[in-house]
Amino acid sequence: MSDCDVIIVGAGASGLLAAISACRSGQNVVVVEKNARAARKLMITGKGRCNVTNSDDIKDFMSNIYPEPRFLYPAFKSFFSSDILAMLDEAGVEVVLERGGRYFPASGKAVDVVDALVATARRSGAKFMFSTSVTGIIVANGAVAGVKIRDERGEKSLFSDKIIVCTGGRSYPLTGSTGDGYEFAQKCGHSVSQTLPALVPLVGKGDFFSRLSGLALRNISASLWIDGKKSHEEFGELEFTDFGVTGPVILTMSRWAVIALHENRKVRLSIDLKPALDEKKLDSRILRDLDANGKAKLKALFREWLPMQMIPVFIALAKLDGEKLASQLSGDERRRIVSLMKDFAFDIVGHRDFNEAIITSGGVSVDEINQKTMESKLVKGLFFAGEVLDVDANTGGYNLQIAFSTGWLAGEN
Ligand SMILES: Cc1cc2nc3c(=O)[nH]c(=O)nc-3n(C[C@H](O)[C@H](O)[C@H](O)COP(=O)(O)OP(=O)(O)OC[C@H]3O[C@@H](n4cnc5c(N)ncnc54)[C@H](O)[C@@H]3O)c2cc1C
Repeated sequence: MSDCDVIIVGAGASGLLAAISACRSGQNVVVVEKNARAARKLMITGKGRCNVTNSDDIKDFMSNIYPEPRFLYPAFKSFFSSDILAMLDEAGVEVVLERGGRYFPASGKAVDVVDALVATARRSGAKFMFSTSVTGIIVANGAVAGVKIRDERGEKSLFSDKIIVCTGGRSYPLTGSTGDGYEFAQKCGHSVSQTLPALVPLVGKGDFFSRLSGLALRNISASLWIDGKKSHEEFGELEFTDFGVTGPVILTMSRWAVIALHENRKVRLSIDLKPALDEKKLDSRILRDLDANGKAKLKALFREWLPMQMIPVFIALAKLDGEKLASQLSGDERRRIVSLMKDFAFDIVGHRDFNEAIITSGGVSVDEINQKTMESKLVKGLFFAGEVLDVDANTGGYNLQIAFSTGWLAGEN
């Protein structure tokens, strides 16, 4: 005896879309959410502004997704960026397009996106059970039969032959995403690849980080070196913290740094502080400045080249005497400046944990999921959507679109 047609576990980005599409397919839907309200994580996305999706076409979208973007092709075909934007528009949420193809609500408030999706799900007929945790999936004869739930009154079972697991990853566990879905999947026989923090700040080796903390460098190029080989390079902005580095270029490269660190490989970051000039041009520019300001102290001249906060650290690392006059600088000292500006490098010795990771890499193996329906290939009636799956993406609205698209496709099926 079923309590409803479909049970959705988790009222985050993927769960809300799964609820809307299942309802629109004529299903009687119950969404079980452990928190007292829906989508706590969605509320803090994009620094509270919610970067809903991206204007990239499918091909460019795919190039921002790991490790198997092609798995998502049917999900994107069934529900893509234009569809979530149309849904928000219908619910009265105006959006604006910003740098990098990023869409945000025009109000600048993530809560408007949450309210619109919850209202759309309710209008479509979804029923919500808040402050209720799913503690297990009931499987009988190779098919799902329901879920075990726990609320303040105790434990009981809720029966249905279709369950969509939308429990998210492990990052920012205070929002409710504590990785429960991985355990459910494993108990149902699914493989779960190692889950690691991704889009996460990196910890550097060096005694200078506290002095650089808070300094943001724009228009730099950063390269990630793994076991002495250049693995990735990104151009843009990074920020020093008291433990290491963060900011867009670091978050983008963190996925590979974290995996390499967990494989005990040597990870190094090299920052090119002057990417617009090659070594020869940079050397000529510095030589010109030294010649034109022979009586200036080196530390004063550095203001032309570097942000103030960086100067004492740079001078110490290059083993220079900041009190020296520009005219007294030797060729060797000048070359040390050029080489440190082109290769401000340090070892990466760790990463921050899930409390600071924007997403989780790894998860339920997509090899065991039917990409056309999001249904498990192992257990009939069991579906997975969102971050619980082993797919993750760069920043730019791609992660939410993955959640929306996989949620929608699962709900439709
Ligand atoms: C700080 C931050 C900023 C971000 N900004 C962006 C951004 O701007 N753009 C972007 O594209 N992505 C962003 N992301 C990533 C994005 O938020 C996630 O990829 C997305 O929310 C994943 O959706 P989901 O539905 O899979 O999981 P979640 O949104 O995590 O939802 C999972 C839900 O399931 C519930 N749940 C878990 N276990 C149980 C259980 N046992 N029983 C009942 N309920 C349960 C949780 O309480 C939660 O509500 C950001 C992430 C963070 C942490």
